[in-house]
Amino acid sequence: MLPTCPLAGRRAIIHSRFPRQACLAGRRVFFNMDSQQIRDTFLRFFEEREHKVMPSAPLVPLGDPTLLFTGAGMVQFKPYFEGRVSPPSRRLASVQKCFRTSDIDSVGDTSHLTFFEMLGNFSIGDYFKESAIPWAWELVTDKNWFAIPKERLWAAVYLDDDEAFDLWRKVGVPAERIMRYGEEHNYWFCGPVGPCGPCSELHYDLGSTPGCPECERDQCHPAVECGRFLEIWNLVFTTYFLNADGSRTPLPAKNIDTGMGLERTAVILQDKRTLYETDLFAPIIQRVEELSGRRYGEDEATDRAMRIVAEHTRAAAFLVSDDKTPVLPSNEKQGYSVRQVLRRAIYRGRELFETSPARPQEEIEDSLMALEPGEGLRRALSSREEQRQRWQSLSFISSVTETVIKGMGGTYPELTRQREFTLDVVRREEEAFKDLLNRSSFVFETMVSARGWLSNALARADVEGGSWKERFRHSASLYPTSSAAVDQATIQPILKCDEDQARRMENELSGREVFLLAATYGFPMELTREIARERGFDIDEDGFEELMREHRERARAAAKFTAEATAAGYDALADLETPFLGYETLDAETTVVGLLRDSGQAESASEGEAVEVILRETPFYGEAGGQVGDTGEIVGPHGRVQVDDTQRPTEKLIVHRGRVVDGRIAVNDAVVARVGEGRRRDIMRNHTATHLLHAALRRVLGSHVRQQGSLVAPDRLRFDFTHMEAIKPDELAEIQRIVNEKIRADLPVATRICSFDAAMDEDVLAFFDEKYGDQVRVVETTEGGERFSGELCGGTHCSATGQIGLFLIVGESSIGAGMRRIEAITGRGAEAYVQEQLAALESASRRLGAAPGDLESRAASLLSELDSERKRVQAMERAAAAPAAETLVDKAKAVDGIPLLAARVDAPSQDALRHMGDVLRQRLGSAVVVLGTVLNGRPAFMAMVTPDLVKRGLHAGHILKRVASAAGGGGGGRPEMAQGGGTDAGKVDEALALVEPLVRESVAKKS
Ligand SMILES: [Zn+2]
Ligand SMILES: [Zn+2]
Repeated sequence: MLPTCPLAGRRAIIHSRFPRQACLAGRRVFFNMDSQQIRDTFLRFFEEREHKVMPSAPLVPLGDPTLLFTGAGMVQFKPYFEGRVSPPSRRLASVQKCFRTSDIDSVGDTSHLTFFEMLGNFSIGDYFKESAIPWAWELVTDKNWFAIPKERLWAAVYLDDDEAFDLWRKVGVPAERIMRYGEEHNYWFCGPVGPCGPCSELHYDLGSTPGCPECERDQCHPAVECGRFLEIWNLVFTTYFLNADGSRTPLPAKNIDTGMGLERTAVILQDKRTLYETDLFAPIIQRVEELSGRRYGEDEATDRAMRIVAEHTRAAAFLVSDDKTPVLPSNEKQGYSVRQVLRRAIYRGRELFETSPARPQEEIEDSLMALEPGEGLRRALSSREEQRQRWQSLSFISSVTETVIKGMGGTYPELTRQREFTLDVVRREEEAFKDLLNRSSFVFETMVSARGWLSNALARADVEGGSWKERFRHSASLYPTSSAAVDQATIQPILKCDEDQARRMENELSGREVFLLAATYGFPMELTREIARERGFDIDEDGFEELMREHRERARAAAKFTAEATAAGYDALADLETPFLGYETLDAETTVVGLLRDSGQAESASEGEAVEVILRETPFYGEAGGQVGDTGEIVGPHGRVQVDDTQRPTEKLIVHRGRVVDGRIAVNDAVVARVGEGRRRDIMRNHTATHLLHAALRRVLGSHVRQQGSLVAPDRLRFDFTHMEAIKPDELAEIQRIVNEKIRADLPVATRICSFDAAMDEDVLAFFDEKYGDQVRVVETTEGGERFSGELCGGTHCSATGQIGLFLIVGESSIGAGMRRIEAITGRGAEAYVQEQLAALESASRRLGAAPGDLESRAASLLSELDSERKRVQAMERAAAAPAAETLVDKAKAVDGIPLLAARVDAPSQDALRHMGDVLRQRLGSAVVVLGTVLNGRPAFMAMVTPDLVKRGLHAGHILKRVASAAGGGGGGRPEMAQGGGTDAGKVDEALALVEPLVRESVAKKS
């Protein structure tokens, strides 16, 4: 079936001999060459012109440590160009796969790529411009080849390259479409020393760009970069050798090195608008659509995420599958680039699953309002949760990789040969980073929240005065971070800032924070920078680089767990599964099945060494679902490990992190694993209390309350949930009362395993942010046969609520629109808290000499006593001011007929100073009075002008302002009365001396 020409709207015919299609209408040609035909056509053209076709070189240049990646066709021919090796032919042509990270931040738009293919022809001391230009023109325009309309093409040459200019003229390019540009556009250098020469480009005109002023004036040309011109081919004429002193020596043999972008050529020859619509990307985008259930073209954010996924996945597939130089994700050199593109693809891929397209967030909210609570939750879960679960269970990027391999494996057989390996590498990286993503989102969010507290603290300190630091400390204490690392990376450094630094921190993530995200949570710095910018923050890249450098040095110097090494160690242990015994017991006899030390797996570890221990089964709870990991000890026949934290690096694996404190430990040791009991019981109390709190919140505030996150630590619990307004004090009291009532009722806490669907039918609470399997664990408390609380939960709990002891809410706050947070304490923590409060009360009552019950009335009487004392002092000061003022009356003198008194006085307060002024004004009748004194080591001034003199142009405020500023301060006020102060106590007299000239000046001005 023949395609239809979109321009002429008529049937097209396929030329019998050549892979192009011309429109039957004959008015315009429309092209339809697929990318393989473009590659073949290019190579055949040069083959017919005696070029030897060379295969693409690997993406990592072999034997060239100065280059990380092959970024152009000529890279593999460098030894020929430099004359070190003789070429198989002096005319070469290739299609080279290339990779560059220089534009990686821009990938996601419609034009930038990290991986691309470069078509090129090369002359090693053979032909030069005289052949290169006519051939380029012929291939691009001839109806037997690419047949691009000549009127769409522009050429560009270097300023004085008349030879190239004339050659373009000769093939038929009109002079007005041959531009002469300077070195920034049309000169090529190979580093500060080496071959160099002018170059010449062919540009394709896509038609004028709306909004481009040059286009509107019909003055546009390829260097304008308004998007109108697509550079398709660059011809480099290597002519000189650039010497170290800057001089250029003509090369004995001149070379040709050209590069034509396959992807851009495909855009033109397939009549598309962007790269992503060409056959090189369309199948990949389509696969992304199928897997995510989203549509390309839906909105800009979706499109951008899809383009990043498609481009980066394609690039990673090529990097990993390269036969000769496979690049695996790591934290160094080329490996870092693979990790960077893969993790960015995974991160953006997740966005496509964040909300279900069929059921957007608002619809979920609506259904929750309209339906029975159980049904609403169920449906909401079954859409958003479904999407989340799909992302969790799907190897999304790995599935996209399959499409890349299928589409390009014919052209690049290494993709097909390395298929299984590539998919495996991508899948592992995807799983590792997914897991890190699940655990790290709260870290990033806390860093962002801290900026909110800081802004608040700074703004309030500006308006209300007082210390921003205290306010920030207060906010931070209301929202304790669940991780000591975030506390150290974010909260503590902010508290150490001065105000200027704090104002910078307001808008910037520190190097330390970026480092924490990179080293612990596997976020490439570039990805952190990108997502920080989306939230309106910069990052301190220099600070990060400095820490990274130190980190590398430390890692080299001493045995050290690096993120990379640990990740590599886990990879090897990925198949292990650790059964958890901790629901029933706190100690167990078990066996060491794996150890991680320094840079990976180890057979044993000795006293003083940091180690991660993997046991056959364990009573230690690995951090999950908001509950922190257990601590304790592992005792073996030859030594003891102190466990400081327990984590789940993969879904099934539990890892005990700690240090050998005694002797040594080895794989296969029979050991006793003992969880630190007091701490674990504190955690259990807080976890069970969290469930009671959740149920009480729903009972008091309504069933719209949904858990958004929680932290269950030994010393506190934190519960984040949806609720629109602040909780009223009486509601809060009621919530606390209900929880304590259920504690006293000592309700049994039961757990059982059932299917997810069955749990949903029973209206058990489940949460969007959790991931559930088919079989779920239900934790519930019942009272008189009726369920009080029921949740899907994997955590450890008290066997009865009475064990919680006491529940106290210590904080309630907003953490964003429609989100609240409650902080509470239980058991020993609550007891200690009450004791502390009572002790403070007792100490206050001792000092004030009143029983605790009488403290309030005692405080009230003290305050009123203080107030009357203040008034008495004021009265005394005023009484003393009057006689002091009397002694000054005689010192008034006439200045231009105006009675003026400017004097330094002794006054105990601003009030007394003002009172002296009042006395003087009354006594003098008509006068200007300016008094100065020193209060608490600083100058203080008061100016008064009687109304008759105000009419003559004198102004107390203006006088005072000038006087105070002479003493390094400021002030002002009304025409009759003004007060102010200074900073330099030594300048009081000097300032007062200004009054007389000021008065003269004012009077002169008025008359
Ligand atoms: Zn333009
Ligand atoms: Zn729970």
